[in-house]
Amino acid sequence: MNRRALVTFTLGAALAVAPVASAEQLGKLGGALKRANQVRDVQMTDAEEQQLGAEVSQRIRARYGVAQNQAVHRYVTLVGTALAQASSRPNLPWKFIVLDVDSVNAFAAPGGFVHITKGALAGLKNESELAGVLGHEIIHVSEKHTIRAIQKGKLVQMGADEKMSGAIMNKLADEAYKVVDSGFGRGDEMESDEKGIALANTVGFAPTGMNGFLNMLVARNKQANNTERSGLFASHPETQERVDKMTKLIASAKLASTATVEARYASSIPYKPVPVSEMATIEAGSAGAAGATKPAEEPKKKGIGGLRSALTPGGGEKKSAQVTGSGAARGAGQESAAKGGSNPALVAVSVSAADIAAFKKAGGLK
Ligand SMILES: [Zn+2]
Repeated sequence: MNRRALVTFTLGAALAVAPVASAEQLGKLGGALKRANQVRDVQMTDAEEQQLGAEVSQRIRARYGVAQNQAVHRYVTLVGTALAQASSRPNLPWKFIVLDVDSVNAFAAPGGFVHITKGALAGLKNESELAGVLGHEIIHVSEKHTIRAIQKGKLVQMGADEKMSGAIMNKLADEAYKVVDSGFGRGDEMESDEKGIALANTVGFAPTGMNGFLNMLVARNKQANNTERSGLFASHPETQERVDKMTKLIASAKLASTATVEARYASSIPYKPVPVSEMATIEAGSAGAAGATKPAEEPKKKGIGGLRSALTPGGGEKKSAQVTGSGAARGAGQESAAKGGSNPALVAVSVSAADIAAFKKAGGLK
């Protein structure tokens, strides 16, 4: 990577000392500044965004493994693609990936990679709840929340003339993984909640699905006796606040689609929920992101709002991670330490436009 010292200039500051400059002078000044050794925020083409997403997805799959079940992948892909086609970025190469872990979670990586855990699928009651979760994640992608977080946090910057190199892409993937892992900001979560339920409604799904998912999280929390105001269930924004906001929005925006498609969901998803107390976990302190570089530790996590990750931020998974007994700590920490499967290989699925159309028709979707 280019290690030269980078000096920040801003055009605004330069203009402040030349308030009466002519347009021509301003143009020259701007050009000079551009040629200066200037840092810039990361800008990405669609192809680079997809490359970044593939790197992040690889890290997620290495941590949790992929459920090697073609029929389940095909079903989740049909629901996800029906939604993605109605999104603002229908032409991304969307991929829907089922992670081989009993904890309840979902992750969106840039460029169209949407992941949902086996544990989340097991806990959902019907297809509209799945559409709620996938819709929420699709909005994180379509609104480029990960890339915006990297830009806003100035987590990675490039020299003005610097090209997108493999080393920069690697650094970006590390930072993007941390963003996806530790969760988005409150504003981004709200945006995903609101636009996600509208998206589900547009396709014909009952817009209450996301609330069904969040309520399932609350129930799981109670079962785990997790009273800490942290972890998967209390959140930023608080789960109940999110549910209330969405309920109001459904009424005020008159989101009135009704399909829940319960029977098809039941016949497509073979998984059963695994109580937190019976879930296999990896050794305390070793849960976390494969490929991340910070030493593993388990800080008191700030609220992880529903779809925010239960992963240990920056934790490095050890190859020697062991399954612990059921005596391990309970609650959100337990969810975050869930042991995943060992096969990270993608399950290939291809669905045609005719497949999607038939799937929508059979489910009473639009
Ligand atoms: Zn989210």
